[in-house]
Amino acid sequence: MLTNDTLDRWDRENFFHPSTHLAQHARGESPSRIISTAEGCHITDRDGNSFLDGFAGLYCVNIGYGRQEVAEAIAAQARELAYYHSYVGHGSEASITLAKMVLDRAPANMSKVYFGLGGSDANETNIKLVWYYNNIRGLPEKKKIISRWRGYHGSGLMSGSMTGLHLFHQKFDLPLDRVLHTTAPYFFRREDQSMDEAAFTAHCAAELEAMIEREGADTIAAFIAEPVLGTGGLVPPPAGYWDAIMPILKANDILLIADEVVTGFGRLGSMFGSDHFGIEADLITIAKGLTSAYAPLSGTIVSDKVWKVLEQGTDENGPIGHGWTYSAHPIGAAAGVANLQVLDKLNLIENAGSVGPYLTEQLRSALGDHPNVGEVRGIGMLSAVEFVDDKAARTFFDPAAKMGPQIANALMAEGVIGRAMPQGDILGFAPPLCLSRAEADVIVAKTTAAVHKVFA
Ligand code: PMP
Repeated sequence: MLTNDTLDRWDRENFFHPSTHLAQHARGESPSRIISTAEGCHITDRDGNSFLDGFAGLYCVNIGYGRQEVAEAIAAQARELAYYHSYVGHGSEASITLAKMVLDRAPANMSKVYFGLGGSDANETNIKLVWYYNNIRGLPEKKKIISRWRGYHGSGLMSGSMTGLHLFHQKFDLPLDRVLHTTAPYFFRREDQSMDEAAFTAHCAAELEAMIEREGADTIAAFIAEPVLGTGGLVPPPAGYWDAIMPILKANDILLIADEVVTGFGRLGSMFGSDHFGIEADLITIAKGLTSAYAPLSGTIVSDKVWKVLEQGTDENGPIGHGWTYSAHPIGAAAGVANLQVLDKLNLIENAGSVGPYLTEQLRSALGDHPNVGEVRGIGMLSAVEFVDDKAARTFFDPAAKMGPQIANALMAEGVIGRAMPQGDILGFAPPLCLSRAEADVIVAKTTAAVHKVFA
């Protein structure tokens, strides 16, 4: 077995880590964290330190770690048929079964599922399908995409453009010019503090409408949004938001892409975020919870309305010129089938709908009155604590002070993983959906200790 020293050296010499300070890491100024085993909601590193993973990896290990039935399904699939492609009508029992299981769980107007590898490529697929759709309809000018500031849709060229976080644009020449960003439905950070929730919802809708008017509805193809802002801060929308947005899109013939990479398969206590909010999407992005990250797999669920036009397009032009070598990879599909079976068998969606709100409530009662806590918020198995410099004035810390990362590090020292969200001092939790109340209590106790330590 390799020693930790060797691994550490090889890591710094060879491994290009995503979303990492490259120079600091290469110089050895930030730790190499080598995770070796995991079980339930806990991960263990090479030194034997165990952590309660309050973020389920990157909010993806929804059924929890170490599920042997998923591991067995993956091994059996690898032995039987590790790979065959899905071009020109090919497939495997696992990929066909998973497509059926996804459609059985999806909102009623959905027709087909295209499988990719991760959330970013699924959103690239979405945009290509939207452009194809409008070309077939004879609307070649209708191509712009509206997303929201603080939305997260991945880090590819279009998906990274649609992401509304500066870190993902700067020095990459993004966003591309067909992408526009409208107001984030982030009530706590509304500019005009005199607005109540209803007024703020009306403001978000009016801003969207004004953008459509300014650009011309005949140039706008789609609006993409997460049902609940995820990486942008774990922010449930203000009351009535979705009911205000949807009619504007319908009236302007703009497709709605619901990016359910985080919210899909139970995180909000419902199968999809669309079910929770009554969102009628034309395309739905899925990833993470589809396999609980036991293998990489994503998908684009396509509505009847879009599917009919795609079919017409192939009648006119031949096979659709879009596909990955690994689309519907049998091992990913086998993991997906076994994962959804575990989700059902253990009633994990129900658990998310009860333990998640408990976690948020307990965090609120422990920390809500702290002078540097501006807001504790949550929905389903998503919770966030947002820190402020001055509570009454609602002013924020200088980002250079890195208060969010400091608190997340202090929490890690207590044995719990939370995530310092990338824009603002926000500590986020998105635990596996199997989190118990006792484990939620540990998260709350350790978070309280970490917050008091950092602000002492
Ligand atoms: N959409 C959303 C809502 C996400 O949260 C993410 C990833 N955090 C993505 C898309 C991109 O997924 P991936 O990292 O698998 O490409």
